[in-house]
Amino acid sequence: MSITNYIRTIPDFPEEGILFRDLTTLFNDSDGFALAIDQFTEAFADLQVAHVAGIEARGFILGGALAYRLGAGFIPVRKKGKLPAETIERSYDLEYGSATIEVHTDSLTAGDRVLVVDDLIATGGTALAAVELMTQLEATTVALAAIVDLPDLGGSGRLRSAGVDVHALCTFPGH
Ligand code: AMP
Repeated sequence: MSITNYIRTIPDFPEEGILFRDLTTLFNDSDGFALAIDQFTEAFADLQVAHVAGIEARGFILGGALAYRLGAGFIPVRKKGKLPAETIERSYDLEYGSATIEVHTDSLTAGDRVLVVDDLIATGGTALAAVELMTQLEATTVALAAIVDLPDLGGSGRLRSAGVDVHALCTFPGH
């Protein structure tokens, strides 16, 4: 089975016109989850990753397992107001309004090699903000890993234009 077979599509969620790519069915299946983590591990095993930065919340599920397999530490990139120690933050635009994510300032040291992980790239705003946080802490983002890329929304193109090596396990057309 390929990765796409484990992903469920829910039309009109959370609002009309959106095709929601539901990864809970992949996480739920031991073979599907292992396939995803194995494919990521193979792609990044030789990149000397010191930390995996997972974006809340689905990036945590992938990031923890992947950090273990890569022999790396895990860093949570969280929505504003959740991290207890000193943080830096980045805001980005959503379709309606904006969002802010944060990371602990002491979670990385300059020159650290970081792999940023999220479940899906749509407009790329979330991923780009996370990469910018890594850059602000003077870390090197070796790649941006995601299970799904929605290339028609332009996010992966935007990330690549910003110099980020995007690695997605599958793509879906449209939004
Ligand atoms: P973006 O910042 O636009 O790239 O949006 C990324 C985040 O929104 C991802 O972490 C997803 O969790 C979520 N998301 C956006 N569009 C979808 C979609 N069609 N299906 C599932 N999740 C989505």
